[in-house]
Amino acid sequence: MDDSIVMHSISSQELFNVKVEALQDFHIPVWVFDVDMLRIVWANAEALQFWEAESDTALYDRDMGSEMSSSVRNRLNQIRNDCQQNSKSFSENWTVYPKGKPQTAEVVLSIIQLACGRDALIVHMLFEDHESSSETLHSAQALMHTSAMISLYDRNYQLVYSNPAARAVAVSEGQSLGALLKHRQDLDIIQKQLDKGGECMVETEVVTNQGVVWHSMSIQLSPDPTTGKKSILVSATDVTERRNAQQKAYVLAYSDSLTGLSNRIALLEQLKRLCNNPTAKFSVFFLDLDRFKLVNDSLGHAIGDSLLVQVAQRMKTAVAHRKAVVSRLGGDEFVVVLDGINDRDASEDVAAEILFALEKPFNIEGHLMRIMPSIGICQYPQDADNSTAIMQRADLAMYAAKASNNAYCFYHSAMNQNNADRLALENDLIVALDQKQFEVYYQPRMCAHTDTIMGMEALIRWVHPERGMVNPGDFISIAEETGLICKIGEWVMVEAMQQQKIWQAMGFDICVSINISPVQFNAGSLVDIVTKSIESSGCNSDKIELEITESMLLGDANIVFETLNTLTDNGVHLAIDDFGTGYSNLAYLQKYPLSVLKIDRAFLANMKQTAILEMILRTGRVLGLTVVAEGVETIDQINWLKKHECDELQGFFFSKPLPVEQATEFMQNFTPSFATDKAA
Ligand code: C2E
Ligand code: MG
Ligand code: MG
Repeated sequence: MDDSIVMHSISSQELFNVKVEALQDFHIPVWVFDVDMLRIVWANAEALQFWEAESDTALYDRDMGSEMSSSVRNRLNQIRNDCQQNSKSFSENWTVYPKGKPQTAEVVLSIIQLACGRDALIVHMLFEDHESSSETLHSAQALMHTSAMISLYDRNYQLVYSNPAARAVAVSEGQSLGALLKHRQDLDIIQKQLDKGGECMVETEVVTNQGVVWHSMSIQLSPDPTTGKKSILVSATDVTERRNAQQKAYVLAYSDSLTGLSNRIALLEQLKRLCNNPTAKFSVFFLDLDRFKLVNDSLGHAIGDSLLVQVAQRMKTAVAHRKAVVSRLGGDEFVVVLDGINDRDASEDVAAEILFALEKPFNIEGHLMRIMPSIGICQYPQDADNSTAIMQRADLAMYAAKASNNAYCFYHSAMNQNNADRLALENDLIVALDQKQFEVYYQPRMCAHTDTIMGMEALIRWVHPERGMVNPGDFISIAEETGLICKIGEWVMVEAMQQQKIWQAMGFDICVSINISPVQFNAGSLVDIVTKSIESSGCNSDKIELEITESMLLGDANIVFETLNTLTDNGVHLAIDDFGTGYSNLAYLQKYPLSVLKIDRAFLANMKQTAILEMILRTGRVLGLTVVAEGVETIDQINWLKKHECDELQGFFFSKPLPVEQATEFMQNFTPSFATDKAA
C-alpha cells in the first residue's frame, strides 16, 4: 500500500496521486468531489457524518448531480478552472443539503489530481462558531420557506439562483429578468437606477406562469455569495390584489360614472402634472353644449344622460388618433387636453375635428337632435402658467365663443376684463327695469310679393346710464341665467301690444311680433301672462305674433301642445324664429299650430350654399307656413329670395331696428316698390 495515502475504498487507491491520509484525522468534513462525474469519490469520517451516509461506499454511490441545478454545475466547473489556473485555494459560503436539510458553512476548495490525471475538487467545510452558523442556517431556511420571491441575476440579467417561491411562478427554468418583466423599458429604468444608487424599488407587471401579475420588487447590486461577482439580487412580492383594489378605487375616484371619461379631479391632476414639466406645451379645449339644459328640462334626465354618453363617445373617437385626454367636468361641460400641441393652426384643426364629430344629429330613443357646441381654447404656457388659470381662461374663451356665435374661440387677455364686465352687467340688470332703462325698437318685415310692410318685430334695447346702448346679444343670456328675463319679457310684451293698438288706431294694419325666451316658455306662466297682457293693453291679438324657437317644442309633447293651442286660442299667431340653427325637426313643425317660419340669417349670409335655404323654403311651403328670410342685406339676396318664392323679408336692406317714433315715420314715409327703386 502506498504509504502516502490512506484510502477508504479500494478503488480510491487508483484515484489520487497526492497524500490525503492526513485529512482523515481532520475534525471537519473533508471530501473529494469529481466535478465531471458529479460524485464524491472520497470523504473523511466527519464528512460521512455530515452527509449522513451509512458507509463511504453508500456516499460514493450517491448521484449528486440529480438534484443539482445547472448553475451550480457551472459554478463548480468554474471553480475548478479558477483553481487550476491560479493554483490557489478558494473560499466561499455554501449551503449544502445532505438528505434535504440545509447546512451552511464556509467551504475551502482546492484542486486535487485523481490518479487518472483528471482534476477534482477537494472540499473542506468550516463551520463557524455555533451562533453565527445557526444564523446562516436560519437565513438559508428563511430563503427556502419565505413567500417572498428571491432571485439572483448576473449583470446580464440571466438567472443565477431563485428560491422556491420564485421558481414556483417562473414560466421557464432560468427565466431571465428581461423575460420576467412585461414592459421591456422597465429593464432600462432598473439599469439606470442601479447605476445611480446601487438599489431601487420597482412596482410593475411581470409575466408568470399564472399570467401577468403585479410585483413589488426591491432590487440591489450585491456580490454573488458563491462567486463574489457583482450580481443583482431581486426580492419580489405579489401585490396584484392591492393594485387591483387601488385600480378600482382609482376608477371610482377619477372617472365620471356616466360617461366613463376622466372626471374633474383627474383632469386637474393631469393639468398640474403637465404644468410641473418646464418644457410642456399643450392646449385645453373647454366645450359646452348650448341649450343642453333645455333637453334635460324638456325631455327628461334619462334622454339628457344618453345624449351626454353619445357626445362623450364621439369626442373620444374624434381625438383617439392624438395624444389627447377627454374629461367631463359635470353637466354638459367637457374638456380635451391635447398634449404636445400649443400652436394655433394645429389647435384649430383639432377644434374642427371635434366639431365635425358632433355635427351629425344624435338619435336618442327616436328623438333626432342636433347639439351646438361652443369651444374655448387656452394654450400652455402662453395663455396661463398654472392649472387653475388654464381652466378659468379656457372657460372664458368658451363663453366668448358662445356670445360671438362662433363654434370656437381662442383665449386672449381682454377676456379677463370681459368677465369682470359680465358680473357688473349682471348687477346693473337687476335695477334696469325699475329704472326704466329698457326701450323697444322695431324692425319692419316686408312682403316679398307686394313690397308692402307686413309687420314690425319688437327688439329690446338697454340704454345703460354709463355704457350707452347695450344690444340684446350682450345681456339676454345673463337675463335668462338669472331668471330676470321673465319680468323683462313681460314688460316688452305689454309695450309691444300697446304699440300694436296705437299703430292700428293710426291706420297701420300690421302685425307686431314679440320674442319669447325659452326660460319664459318653461316658467309655466306664459299663457297667463299673454292673456293678461292682451287684456291690459287692449291690442288686437290677431295682429300679435309670438316668436318661439325650435328648442321650446322639444318638451313633453302634451304640455307643449296644450300651451301652444291655448295661446292660439287667444288669437295670437306663432312663429318659429332662427329656424335651421337648432333641431330642425320637421315633425314638430307639422304637429303644432304654427303660422310662420323665420329662417336664421346665418343661411342668408352664405349665399354660395343655397341648398339648405331652398330646402327650408320648400318645406315651409308644403306645410302651409309663411316663410320669412331674416338678415336681408343685399338686392341679390332679395332677387334670389323672390325667385324662390320666399314670402317675407326682414333685414338691414329695408331698415335697422328703429325706436318707436322712427319706426312710425318709416311706415308713414314708406312707398312700395322700394326694391325696384334701390335696385335701379
Ligand atoms: P332675432 O329675434 O332673430 O332678431 C333679429 C336680430 O337680427 C336682431 O338683432 C336684428 O337687429 C338682427 N338683424 C336684423 N336684420 C339684420 C341684418 O340684415 N343683418 C344683421 N347682421 N343683423 C340683422 P338684435 O336686435 O340684436 O337681437 C338679437 C336677438 O336677441 C334676437 O334675435 C332675439 O333672439 C333676442 N331678443 C331681442 N329682443 C328680445 C326680447 O324682447 N326678448 C327676448 N327673449 N329676446 C330678444
Ligand atoms: Mg326674433
Ligand atoms: Mg331670428
